Amino acid sequence: MIAVMEFYTNIPKKQCVVCGNEFEEQHESYATECEHCINIIQADE
Ligand SMILES: [Zn+2]
Repeated sequence: MIAVMEFYTNIPKKQCVVCGNEFEEQHESYATECEHCINIIQADE
């Protein structure tokens, strides 16, 4: 059971391609920016 827990806790966080900050994936799976940078990009379009 411990191994299962380690598996889930070792899921690598995604790294924002804009600012380099790590962030938990919570947007579309293809998102490569953190929530902060996504807002900036969307506002610029
Ligand atoms: Zn970012």
